[in-house]
Amino acid sequence: MKLMLLFFLMLSAAMTACQAETPSRPTVKSTSMQNASHPSNPYYSRTDTTKLELPDTVWKKVLPPELYPVARQGATEPAFTGKYWDYEGIGTYFCAACGNSLFRSDAKFASTCGWPSFFETVRPGSVVYRKDTSFGMARTEVLCGRCGAHLGHLFDDGPPPTGKRFCMNSISLEFEPDHPETKKPQ
Ligand code: FE
Repeated sequence: MKLMLLFFLMLSAAMTACQAETPSRPTVKSTSMQNASHPSNPYYSRTDTTKLELPDTVWKKVLPPELYPVARQGATEPAFTGKYWDYEGIGTYFCAACGNSLFRSDAKFASTCGWPSFFETVRPGSVVYRKDTSFGMARTEVLCGRCGAHLGHLFDDGPPPTGKRFCMNSISLEFEPDHPETKKPQ
């Protein structure tokens, strides 16, 4: 009987030890610091370049209400109203919908059109193009290469070296300064 008791005591101790060593359940790890700043948008990432093909019903849920009509419905913000049209900070502009890198500040130029304007993208494929014949005009629409969000339009009246003008909506962009002390526009 004493042996049985001893056996059960040892078994109980072993089980307790096993439980203590059981790893805790894996937690969902944020892929980047920026995800933490976009808590309602699980698709936002500045490191993941996987293309996103999501229905507008999903974007409607995860995007800020003021961004949705521009990013998913092609609306244009009024000229001279966005926060970046005359901003000169040094850094990178990302897609506000998904975090994809789009433009560097050294490709931004002072444009009188009232929207932030760039003469080239940060890398090939960061944006994609679509023919836009709305409002009786033949224009080239510029969309995010990762999520397909509407960013603005491309024109051929830009400065050297490309002669291109990427005319963007401020609200579709998110600026990240190279130096953290740089003041971001509100
Ligand atoms: Fe995007």
